[in-house]
Amino acid sequence: MKQKSTPKRFVAGAKCPNCQQMDTIVCYYEDEVFVRECVECDFVERITDELAAEEKPKDAVTPAQIIKIKEL
Ligand SMILES: [Zn+2]
Repeated sequence: MKQKSTPKRFVAGAKCPNCQQMDTIVCYYEDEVFVRECVECDFVERITDELAAEEKPKDAVTPAQIIKIKEL
């Protein structure tokens, strides 16, 4: 079994869409799927390449955007 997970990292300035708390979102890769989740509630979102390529709601945050925010 090959693990492709990455450590969880907090996303600065991100707000949880579920509980509306700030700075509670962590993101990481799990089996090459980008996952973001909230540490304060049960919010979990998996962003696959297919999903990212197909539908892009206005509020959608892509992995690339999150990584960019993190680097700032
Ligand atoms: Zn939350």
